[in-house]
Amino acid sequence: MSAIRRYMKVICAAAMGLALLAVCFAAGGQETASGVQLSSLMGVGALTAGCVASERREKKAKELQAARAPEGAARFADIAGAEEAVEEMRRLADCLRDPERYARAGAHLPRGVLLYGPPGTGKTLLARALAGEAGVAFLQANGSDFVQMYVGVGAKRVRELFKKAREHEKCVVFIDEIDALGKRRGGGEENAEREQTLNALLAEMCGFKQDGKLLVIGATNRPEVLDEALVRPGRFDRRIELGLPDLRAREQILIHHLSRAGADCGAGELPLLTAGFSGAGLESLVNEAAMLAAGENTRIQKEHLERAYLEVLAGKPRWDAKPQGAQLRRVAVHEAGHALACLRFLPEEPVLLASVIPSTKGAGGYVLRRPSEALPTRRSLLGALRAALAGRAAEELCFGAEELSAGAASDLKAAEQLVRRLALDYALEPGLGLMPGRKPDEAALCAILDREYAQALAYLRESRQSLESLSAALAEKGQMDLPAILAAI
Ligand code: ATP
Repeated sequence: MSAIRRYMKVICAAAMGLALLAVCFAAGGQETASGVQLSSLMGVGALTAGCVASERREKKAKELQAARAPEGAARFADIAGAEEAVEEMRRLADCLRDPERYARAGAHLPRGVLLYGPPGTGKTLLARALAGEAGVAFLQANGSDFVQMYVGVGAKRVRELFKKAREHEKCVVFIDEIDALGKRRGGGEENAEREQTLNALLAEMCGFKQDGKLLVIGATNRPEVLDEALVRPGRFDRRIELGLPDLRAREQILIHHLSRAGADCGAGELPLLTAGFSGAGLESLVNEAAMLAAGENTRIQKEHLERAYLEVLAGKPRWDAKPQGAQLRRVAVHEAGHALACLRFLPEEPVLLASVIPSTKGAGGYVLRRPSEALPTRRSLLGALRAALAGRAAEELCFGAEELSAGAASDLKAAEQLVRRLALDYALEPGLGLMPGRKPDEAALCAILDREYAQALAYLRESRQSLESLSAALAEKGQMDLPAILAAI
């Protein structure tokens, strides 16, 4: 078919050239004809050659297109604040682009690369960017796609994936959540299907030549559960970590997404306020701000970011559901207790907002603190413990033990987790030993909780006046930021 088309084009070109010649002869006469004749003759040749060349170019373009990443492919410039990881991937992209140069130096592209880190830290994005930069095809699969009920189905899917990859001239195969199929064998848990699927992947990983045409990237949040055979040299032996972004990285990621959204403001205080956020979390925060801005038909401004931050953390305030009467006083006393204990015992995490307005995330009231990036110490953990218990302590002081409510249930859960981390994970409680992960002595943990509750209660008793004035102001205003809280106590 294509041969016929090619001949048709050549014939058309020749006919056009001859027609041109005829026109020139007819119009110009002998003297002028020679010059025009020459260019017309050249035209025939050039057109004919041009057709063949363009045909060749078309063919080449088609071949390249099959192997190239799709339009709008990701780039390394889409990733902010992860320089080390990008640098490593840049080298791999270079090797995929020009494997011969690496081969001359005796180097070859690794078969597999493992990207690991918490969810939303840009593993998928980085893999896509590698394919985009190298200009190669990108095939994506999820580990759970290969976990099947019937023996052999998962293995067949693995083989099909690699077959598809080999159809491209060059290809990056990305397997997200690779732990779903690459979990360590042994311990009696394995079943025949899982084992066959993993074996198929191991076989495929060893079965292709390291000629710079195929690179397999696996991503996981749990590298420690992977089977050793999968991460041995020659398979996923290159490991690249993508951790939660630090302060500087958060700033870069926020600036990146703000500038993409065409915001009218910088990141301001947000990098400080977003410790513990992943890149995806930061992106969705900027998106939330953009939604608020779009609602007002404007670009993102500082106040949109501030509102979006509060909404992401606590949910939207439901002002129409503000409690009334005795219930309002109870919530206000509870939150005022938390706020005062935070100010006193946890200075490294300043209070951002105290609220008695129910939120769309289900909180009746809350106190938001600015998270700290410092490693937890015994003092800071005890401070957080007292702050968590202070809501209940404030209720006990103001309403008496008989009138305590169930409102502290989630605080008690949080306190329990804190005490376990303090005493068991970090071995920071004197007298309880250094052995992490040992069976907890529940009585000792209860004693720590009681002791810290007593501390919170004692402090609030001393600060009764501040507790009353802050709870009254909170009941009236609904929400208070730090300057308003400090002015009220
Ligand atoms: P999971 O482990 O849940 O699969 P992941 O680590 O693969 O998550 P991605 O899906 O790559 O995370 O990230 C989601 C989105 O978060 C990206 O598309 C991007 O918009 C944003 N993002 C994450 N990290 C960064 C970063 N370092 N720079 C810019 N944007 C980022």
